[in-house]
This record gives sequence, C-alpha cells and structure tokens, in this order.
Amino acid sequence: ATVAQLAEWNGTGATADGHRVKVYGNVGSPADARAAADAGAEGVGLFRTEFCYLDASDEPSVADQRAAYTAVLAPFPGKPVIVRTLDAGADKPLAFLSPDAEPNPALGVRGLRVAFDRPEVLDRQLEAIAGAAADSGAEVSVMAPMVATVEEAAWFAGRVRAAGISRAGVMIEIPAAALSAREILDAVDFVSVGTNDLAQYTFAADRQLGAVAKLNDPWQPGLLRLLKLIGDAAKATGKPAGVCGEAAADPRLALVLTGLGLTSLSMNAPAIRTVGASLATASLAECEALAEAALATSDPAAARAAARP
Ligand code: PEP
Ligand code: MG
Repeated sequence: ATVAQLAEWNGTGATADGHRVKVYGNVGSPADARAAADAGAEGVGLFRTEFCYLDASDEPSVADQRAAYTAVLAPFPGKPVIVRTLDAGADKPLAFLSPDAEPNPALGVRGLRVAFDRPEVLDRQLEAIAGAAADSGAEVSVMAPMVATVEEAAWFAGRVRAAGISRAGVMIEIPAAALSAREILDAVDFVSVGTNDLAQYTFAADRQLGAVAKLNDPWQPGLLRLLKLIGDAAKATGKPAGVCGEAAADPRLALVLTGLGLTSLSMNAPAIRTVGASLATASLAECEALAEAALATSDPAAARAAARP
C-alpha cells in the first residue's frame, strides 16, 4: 500500500470489494484501551485481564475486578469487546493462581487449566465481567486461553452461559485445538487464534528464547497450514475466527489471513491504521490467491515473497 492509501483508512475493516474483516485492538489497561479507540479500533479482540493483576498477591474481589474491567471497557460502549479470562502461568505467573514450580511451566497448569482445579475463581471473574459489561455498555464476549480439546471448550462455554454472558469463545493456541477447530466451533460462538503460543507449541520453540526465534515466524508454512484449517472451520460453520497474536499486526500477512478465511484481526494500537489500510488494497479473491501462493511454499522467505501483491 502507498503512504496515501495508508492515510486513507476509513475505520471499517474490509477488502477492496467490501468483504468485512474487523480490525480490533489488543489491550491490557485503560491506557491501552484509550489508545486503541483513538487509533480507530472497531472493538477489542483481546483484553488480557491477567495484565491487571501481575503484581497482586491475593485474588482481587469481585467488586475490584468489576471496577478494573469497567475502566478498560469504557471507551467502547456499544462496540464488541472480547474479554479473556485470566491467562496465568508460564511467561505471566500470577501469585494467587500459579502452581508451585513445575518442570515445564509452558506445558503445565496454565491458562484455562487453572480453572479446572479452582472453578470458583473463574466463576467470580465471570461475575465481575458480567457486571463490567452492564456498567460500560460494551458488547462483551468472553474467551478462554490455552484450550486443548473440544471437551474443555464446551465446559468453559457452559460456565460462561451460567454466568449470564451470552457469547463464549476460546483461543486456539495449541495445535490439537487447531486440528479440532471445526468441532470446537460447534461447541462455542467464536474462536480467536493466539499465534504467539500456537507458533511456540507447533514448533516446540520457546517464544521467549531469541535462539529459536526463527522458528516462531508466523510466515512459516507449517503454521499457515494450521491457520488454513481454522479458516476452513470458520467458513464451514459460519462462525467468527479471529487472530489476536502478533501475526495480525503484519499488514501483508493480514491479506493472507483474510484469504485463509479468518474474520477479524486484533493488534496493538500502533498497527491498527496500517492493517486497516492494507486490507483495502486487495479484493477477497486476490487475498485468496496470495494465501494459496504462500501455502504452496516451503519456507518463510518464500511465503513472504509469494504473498507480495
Ligand atoms: C498469543 O498467544 O498469541 C496471544 C495472543 O496470547 P498471549 O500473547 O497473551 O499469550
Ligand atoms: Mg497466548
């Protein structure tokens, strides 16, 4: 896209021929939420609630959580906001939730797995989220991190609906979940792909380790093939499948993700306008052709080259 095209994004995510791809913000604080709204985000695709409690020694009360979440949702009345339940563990330990030392924390009791042992903590958070939805007027959905199976997804959706929240989704961050995307979408209202963790677990490469960063490249054809399964599942079920990992902030990859069938892209505020403008430079058929070309390659450099419009 040219600089002139980038300056012209009209704030509604869509391809050149009008196929909608919603452009959302990733947030973890009221300041992030304000920045996303100011950048033109159509809503929030990922609210990382654990960011509110990285320094907390005890579980916050329902009232405190409700106030904290309301402050983040405030810039988005009437807009969709996806609130992620606490993703504690591995790179983001929470003192009141994370288990004692494990040999492999990234493969341990983290994310939704914590809630299987302590469902009352999840239920209290869902009560606070429902309250914050009412207080802010945002159109709130809730999603779970680190879901591996259809059974886990269905369990979480049941808990969310019991809390009076109508829309429940899960993140796809584990290869087994990507391989079961169709069945998972049958059990929930939407999915969102966490490409940071999906890459980490697909390539068995620690996302925090520079020495293996080459493997954690979202243009790796092996990862693109998993993303295609998720896009195919979205098309087959007619349900939304977004991307909220760092991959969504790459303007050229945004075209490939659109071509694969993903339906929304969520990113940090500085990337929002660039990605929104990039989407408008290609038709859906052109995005599909770029995706097919990238999928047919054998390494990230070739995938990037193939996806040049
Ligand atoms: C991801 O894993 O891609 C993701 C969006 O979640 P987080 O970065 O918070 O683990
Ligand atoms: Mg993750």
